[in-house]
Amino acid sequence: MSVILVTGGSGLVGSAIKHVIETEPEGSRFGKKPGETWIFARSSDGDLKDAAATKALFDKYKPTHVIHLAALVGGLFGNMKYKLSFLRENLLINENVLNASHEGKAQKVISCLSTCVFPDKVTYPLDETKIHSGPPHESNFGYAYAKRLVDVQNHAYNDQYGSNFTSAIPTNIFGPHDNFDLEVSHVIPALIHKCYMAKKNGTPFVVAGTGKPLRQFIYSRDLAKLFIWQLREYNEIDPVILSVGEDEEISIKEVADSIVKAVGFEGEYTFDTSKADGQFRKPASNKKLLSLIGEFKFTPFDQAMDETVAWFLQNYDTARTGKK
Ligand code: NAP
Ligand code: GDP
Repeated sequence: MSVILVTGGSGLVGSAIKHVIETEPEGSRFGKKPGETWIFARSSDGDLKDAAATKALFDKYKPTHVIHLAALVGGLFGNMKYKLSFLRENLLINENVLNASHEGKAQKVISCLSTCVFPDKVTYPLDETKIHSGPPHESNFGYAYAKRLVDVQNHAYNDQYGSNFTSAIPTNIFGPHDNFDLEVSHVIPALIHKCYMAKKNGTPFVVAGTGKPLRQFIYSRDLAKLFIWQLREYNEIDPVILSVGEDEEISIKEVADSIVKAVGFEGEYTFDTSKADGQFRKPASNKKLLSLIGEFKFTPFDQAMDETVAWFLQNYDTARTGKK
């Protein structure tokens, strides 16, 4: 019998794991297995910044396995504005979750990092060996250092107690249940919302920066399957990058074009070059992942975009959209 606690279970990635577990055939590679109980926790189930609340959550469910997603999460502009909050909240959450997992004798923990943790000045492509080889980009150093430290914690837990605590490193994620806030969210949900408003109100659709930076994007439902694979089939402490191939970088302009098509926006759009571009690129290699998982089919970007926009339009009233 296993109890899998997913922290951050109501967010973009947590909702996708719930969707996959509930819709893939039972007993299949990514479906629910007999004897498994999945718990998807949100912040109202316990504030993980608080050690006592975290312990109470772990005492209640007694998880044998933990997928730790809960975090203060934001895009470039949120990270630039609230560096201390991103550092402090994520340090607290990670410390409490790993300590409660240790005290509760969880057999395995996978914590979620991000390609933002990598050094700014480094040879590309990024791979799992390069996390600590230089300072992160200045725009998100609070978040990056808090997340990097999880890898240090995982090794220390393993060294001192033999714990099986590991981490996953996804690239930029998007999909249903994302945070579509206009100011602090990631580029895809922010631009979907902005494009929708432009279409609805006949106002300009403005993309921040030059549109030239390159990113790798992963659909949340593909990432969910990779987390389930990692939970069941991966047994190292070192992280694994969960990503499409490094040859699948696309520009922010290509992202905007895909959004314009999916939303059905017919006007022109512009770039506000007074806004930051952030890192120009941070291509990550998925060689390690592919060498371990065997065959895996990623959803084509435009299909994932269509599904995300359809979800956003159907759920506009309840989606996380910030101030309207
Ligand atoms: P998200 O949609 O913003 O969801 C965050 C989740 O964390 C929510 O379930 C939220 O609960 C929970 N949470 C936040 N603060 C909490 C607290 N103090 N106590 C308890 N729960 C708390 O985030 P996401 O995009 O799914 O991100 C999941 C993981 O992926 C994070 O670790 C993030 O750093 C990482 N990541 C994200 C991206 C991306 O592009 N989104 C890229 C790379 C890595 P409520 O809903 O109740 O507030
Ligand atoms: P990053 O991948 O960690 O840098 O985070 P984001 O998802 O926030 O992507 C940032 C990139 O998208 C930068 O090049 C921004 O200039 C560009 N971008 C364009 N419009 C927006 C927007 O409305 N919101 C955000 N977050 N980024 C935008």
